Amino acid sequence: MLIKDCLFCKIIIGEIPCCKVYENEKILAFKDINPVAKVHVLIIPKIHIENTGQRKYIDTLGELLLSTEAIAKKLNILESGYRIITNKGKDAGQIIDHIHLHLIGGEPLNPLN
Ligand code: AMP
Ligand code: ZN
Repeated sequence: MLIKDCLFCKIIIGEIPCCKVYENEKILAFKDINPVAKVHVLIIPKIHIENTGQRKYIDTLGELLLSTEAIAKKLNILESGYRIITNKGKDAGQIIDHIHLHLIGGEPLNPLN
């Protein structure tokens, strides 16, 4: 369920501190340590899931996506808008193998293309 050598699992159990912005029984959201915009939050499931590819985790994956609305509201960016990104694998630059959504906003963002 949690992995000993996973940074985000360590954050979940409090072994590594984080700047928490939201949590419920299934997910935890905290500020990214190296923000790329005024608002940059990571949203993670409280169980160790590596990526999006497993149907058995559909409830938790759905919860991740749904939680963005409540988190954006709490951060006062629900009206102004925001972007959600998940990196998967090396070409995308995924460095932590515990699935996470990047929720980014708080200012106008560069277009994707
Ligand atoms: P990714 O490239 O999608 O795997 O993104 C990992 C993200 O985790 C990066 O944006 C890092 O800045 C962020 N990060 C790494 N360590 C921490 C930490 N201890 N607390 C908060 N964010 C972190
Ligand atoms: Zn983990």
